[in-house]
Amino acid sequence: MKVGIVGAGMVGSTAGYALALSGIASEIVLIDLNSALAIAQAEDIAHAVPFNSASVIRAGSYADLAGAGVVVLAAGVGQRPGETRLQLLGRNAQVFRKIVGEVLTQAPETILLVAANPVDIMTYIATKLSGLPPHRVIGSGTILDTARFRSLLAGHLGVSPQAVHAYVLGEHGDSEVLAWSNVHVGAISLLDFAEQIGRPITGDLRAEMDSNIRNAAYRIIAGKGATYYGIGAGLARIIRAIANDQRDVFSVSILTPSIAGVDAVVGSIPRVIGARGVIVDIVPDLDAVEHAALNRSETLLKGLADQVGL
Ligand code: ADP
Repeated sequence: MKVGIVGAGMVGSTAGYALALSGIASEIVLIDLNSALAIAQAEDIAHAVPFNSASVIRAGSYADLAGAGVVVLAAGVGQRPGETRLQLLGRNAQVFRKIVGEVLTQAPETILLVAANPVDIMTYIATKLSGLPPHRVIGSGTILDTARFRSLLAGHLGVSPQAVHAYVLGEHGDSEVLAWSNVHVGAISLLDFAEQIGRPITGDLRAEMDSNIRNAAYRIIAGKGATYYGIGAGLARIIRAIANDQRDVFSVSILTPSIAGVDAVVGSIPRVIGARGVIVDIVPDLDAVEHAALNRSETLLKGLADQVGL
């Protein structure tokens, strides 16, 4: 499968690197407004390929996206001094307006995979601008938060993260919701499993994990200025599910008829992904507190999307 990546900054290029190492894509095309950057990133990544796979990675123009099965949207502009969050969103909507049109002219059948932040709102913008059905405009959403939740629980329980079924829902950001009430390990509930092995889930442990996950990006940005390895690998993982029609479950963000009582809103819930994009939403069974928290998170996203005014 051919994969396009628009935006060859840290997130886009790291996704390209993860994809190139995995060998999932036969061809990867990097596009950036800064063509020298795209050329340099493609050449650097191409030097890693012979050690791992046979993917071809190169810089290109929109015309090179013809036939791409997935196009990652990782382009964006940074916040200017004194600029509000909404003004920044407006400028990034302009960036997407140009990109989405170009991409769909060349690859009308593609799936758009949105990675630019704030990812939920950028997914909303890409959906509205493209006019595509929502199942083909997928935001990376809370995939990283979910991965972290699973791995922290796995560490506590002494099992592999793959054995832990747990999801972070709603906004990829401060209002996200850890769905504790439906965590399962193998086929049994978290609390039963934790009790059986004598490693209880205390209130303190929950609070510590919650804060760890909610603040992960802030911690990394404080230490190194940006986050990109995790999201790069996560994007490559979603592309694998699409390329192989794998029908794996990911907490990704798409425009959804209703989430926790909020209509026509973006945000993450678990969804099955295959060759055509999102196939099925899995509506989580939440307790009252989680449901209220998810309603607040989605209400916030809806408000922001309304302010963007598309
Ligand atoms: P991140 O850490 O999210 O990857 P970066 O600033 O490193 O952020 O990357 C964003 C990239 O998007 C930059 O390389 C920038 O040149 C690119 N970009 C911005 N506007 C456009 C555009 N209109 N078309 C293509 N690429 C763009």
